[in-house]
Amino acid sequence: MHDDRKLVESRLKRVLDERIRPAVYPESVPLEVGIWTAPGEPVPVAEGLAAPRTPIAVGDAWGAPWGTSWITVTGTVPQAWAGRTVEALIDLGFDANMPGFQCEGLVYRPDGTPVKGLNPQNQWVRIAAPAAGGEPVLLHVEAASNPVVLDYHPFLPTELGDRETAGSEPQYELARMDLAVFDETVWQLVVDLEVLGELMAELPVDGARRWEILRAVERALDAVDLQDVNGTAAQARSQLTAVLAAPAVPSAHRISAIGHAHIDTAWLWPLRETVRKVARTTANMTALLEDEPDFRYAMSQAQQYAWIKEHRPEVYARVRKAVAEGRFVPAGGMWVESDTNMPSSEAMARQFVHGKRFFLDEFGVENHEAWLPDTFGFTGGLPQIIRNAGSRWLLTQKISWSQINRFPHHTFLWEGIDGTRIFTHFPPVDTYNCSMKGSEIAHAARNFKDKGVARHSLAPTGWGDGGGGTTREMVAKAARLANLEGSATVHWEKPAEFFAKAEAEYPNPPVWVGELYLELHRATLTSQARTKQGNRRSENLLREAELWCATAALRTGAAYPYEQLDRIWKTVLLHQFHDILPGSSIAWVHREAEATYAALAEELEALIGRAQQALAGDPAGGRELVFNAAPHPRSAVPAGGAATVATATAAGGCEVAERPDGGFVLRNGLLEVVVDGDGLVASVVDTASGRETLAPGSRANLLQLHPDFPNMWDAWDVDQFYRNTVTDLTGVDTLTAESAAGRVTVRVARSFGSSTVVQALTLRAGERRLDLDTEVDWHETEKFLKAAFPLDLHTERYAAETQFGHLYRPTHTNTSWEAAKFEACNHRFVHLDEPGWGVALVTASTYGHDVTRTVRDTDGGTTTTVRFSLLRAPRFPDPRTDQGLHRFRHALVPGATIGDAVREGYRIGLPERRITGSTEEVRPLVELDHDALVVSAVKLADDGSGDLVVRVYEAGGGRARGRLTTSFPLADAVPCDLLERPWAGTRGEVTVADGGVRLALRPFELVTLRLRAAG
Ligand SMILES: [Zn+2]
Repeated sequence: MHDDRKLVESRLKRVLDERIRPAVYPESVPLEVGIWTAPGEPVPVAEGLAAPRTPIAVGDAWGAPWGTSWITVTGTVPQAWAGRTVEALIDLGFDANMPGFQCEGLVYRPDGTPVKGLNPQNQWVRIAAPAAGGEPVLLHVEAASNPVVLDYHPFLPTELGDRETAGSEPQYELARMDLAVFDETVWQLVVDLEVLGELMAELPVDGARRWEILRAVERALDAVDLQDVNGTAAQARSQLTAVLAAPAVPSAHRISAIGHAHIDTAWLWPLRETVRKVARTTANMTALLEDEPDFRYAMSQAQQYAWIKEHRPEVYARVRKAVAEGRFVPAGGMWVESDTNMPSSEAMARQFVHGKRFFLDEFGVENHEAWLPDTFGFTGGLPQIIRNAGSRWLLTQKISWSQINRFPHHTFLWEGIDGTRIFTHFPPVDTYNCSMKGSEIAHAARNFKDKGVARHSLAPTGWGDGGGGTTREMVAKAARLANLEGSATVHWEKPAEFFAKAEAEYPNPPVWVGELYLELHRATLTSQARTKQGNRRSENLLREAELWCATAALRTGAAYPYEQLDRIWKTVLLHQFHDILPGSSIAWVHREAEATYAALAEELEALIGRAQQALAGDPAGGRELVFNAAPHPRSAVPAGGAATVATATAAGGCEVAERPDGGFVLRNGLLEVVVDGDGLVASVVDTASGRETLAPGSRANLLQLHPDFPNMWDAWDVDQFYRNTVTDLTGVDTLTAESAAGRVTVRVARSFGSSTVVQALTLRAGERRLDLDTEVDWHETEKFLKAAFPLDLHTERYAAETQFGHLYRPTHTNTSWEAAKFEACNHRFVHLDEPGWGVALVTASTYGHDVTRTVRDTDGGTTTTVRFSLLRAPRFPDPRTDQGLHRFRHALVPGATIGDAVREGYRIGLPERRITGSTEEVRPLVELDHDALVVSAVKLADDGSGDLVVRVYEAGGGRARGRLTTSFPLADAVPCDLLERPWAGTRGEVTVADGGVRLALRPFELVTLRLRAAG
């Protein structure tokens, strides 16, 4: 037979585009349109409905950036349309190729009840089916003219990312505003032909199935009268019945589709717009659930539910109803889909506590999957946190974005630093916005790496970020793909149904140990430094506030601020969203985040101050008390929430001497530090061991400046080639030294480019630690600033702190997997050692770092260089990222064990506080007698029972057997999960005996204890 395949395929495309699709709406009449533009920020619905309208026509421009317009459409269904299905078509000026990221609308009835969202791929509103004829039509649209920030030429700097700089130029033109007849038979024919055409394109050309579909399509096209598509669509469909009825082969890949809209909680729009994006999408999805009985929809992020509850109660009522029916699924159990690299141990735990508790309180449901499709890498501390939250599965798609290495599994067990294993799935469809295209379904089946031993994968299906979620077209396609020869099968299933099947069919999945590192978006550990500092500061202040408020409550009966702490935690958790804390949002988001963090700090400082004053007693007592919130003793104050009367700082203990080169030598009996004439650290000798910390000939605390213009994703990415060019900042403006009681400080000022920096290096009496303070007035663009510490250390690996422990990374680049980790995350420390001697570098607020090694020509020794990442200056999406004043605090700790690194990490974030009062001391509520057993939280139980909750973890990576004692009579201690529910899952030993608790924890194990006081 002659090969006419391409001819038929081209015919299908043209006839669909030019004749069949346009015939879905064969008749239409224009609607009358009026508009009112709100003068500033969005207004309440009642106000928008009531405002006077002025006429506007199709083709007219509307919508300043970030504006809100209320658009009213009116009309009458023609009498001639009686018996037909009628829809309104409202095109606000959408670009259908870009679902999301542009204007959007929410349709209301005159009484203010929401109908559904309007999105580029979802512009219809059902008016009547069937119509009587003569019905009046009156609908209102709350239309948001969100500007396109990420355009067809992406990543160009733009001022559109902040209302304050975006200007007032209208962004859109009203397009189609019609009442139209909807021909469902033609619409079904379109879906038939799309499904078959897309499947055909994926099938082998030498296979019979492809040709059977081709011939059926040809017969269907022959059956269409191009002058009367509506009259012949049914007979065209009948030509396709047989090929659509052919069942899938038994070995076909099985896709669990779940309706989804990945809505970034802030990103290229401010937080307030997300409130409305979520309302529009959930209005769409609850409407679709009513129309489509097989459809299931999953939505994550408790915060987004809380917003609908507060701001759009009518939509929330529909969500509650659909959740109760089991078809709208609260997924993920986290407050937001947070970053997981940077949140502290406690914050990561609280993401689950607040997310799961919200779903339990509001809906009575508890889910067991962590749902993080888009998060930029996953720490080795996360599996234990997921398990302690009562969950056992993880879903993410993001690792498929890695630049270099292909991850070897789609379904596997992920093992964290403590040995916890979590059943994990990466959807092989490689997108969290699946649209049921044949190419996507075929890719999922082909790409699935666990073929032969597993058959199931999951496909999150729907447009996110304001695209409106799943469409009726996607549901119609899925129905045809349920059991279709040549295709993977598709069924709507809830995440829990998918995971149960996937687990059952794959009893011995492969294991991946350690972090799931994303080989992309590495600069999110550095961009928007003020947002990151606000996060770290808030985490530290929350620890203090909970500790001191709990202590004051138990000691003095002071009221514990449950609601205030709950609200503050939720605000901090919100800002850990995976485009806020990573620094990848527009200027507006980061401007607001900084203001929010400042307000939280003020509130938390007040809480801490009040609690400490209650504990210290009457200020007239005149005793200065030193409070220590750290889990280690300091300045003679015991660990973990104690205070003692201050002793005067003794003079002396350190000295400074000038050197001939203009530099200085600093000594305190523990360290001897040489600062050279360039203000750089040329030598640090650990007196006890006599060991030099720095590599011979090298200089530390060296600022290095790189050009940094990645190939794409400016705020997110740093590409490896940034290292090819570097400038060492060695020029000195001034170099001075000063002595004060108990410390000596060298201060060096430098200028470079348009920026200036002052570095202060301080040695304190009795401390084996060099404190480094860096103040930068940063006015560079597309540059990367690092602080380098070349150490005389030979080691193949180093430790970086993560949640509830640390993980090791290699210092070499033997394979592409190691080479790809050229920028990595730390919490408060990195630690490197040779047997018997090590160095810790600690940081108050930075997360990004790199570690490299070289072998010296001079003596053959190994130089291991640690560099902290301080600042970047990308121009997209915030054209002025990180401009202005910044302050960073770091410290170099020679001769440090891992235990020292842990201790110094806590110290740098938890300053001593001094309060004047009348008491002599405040004893800590709980004490532990083993250095590696570290308290991560002391608080009152969230249930208001008055029980004390204490979370302890093993911080050294070894076994720790110790005893927790309380300074109150202890009645009972119950091991709990993170939600403070009794839990038998703790693997170590927890025994109540002799008025205390005996603990035996395994490496990095965490345990949450609920302690009840006697009497
Ligand atoms: Zn996202």
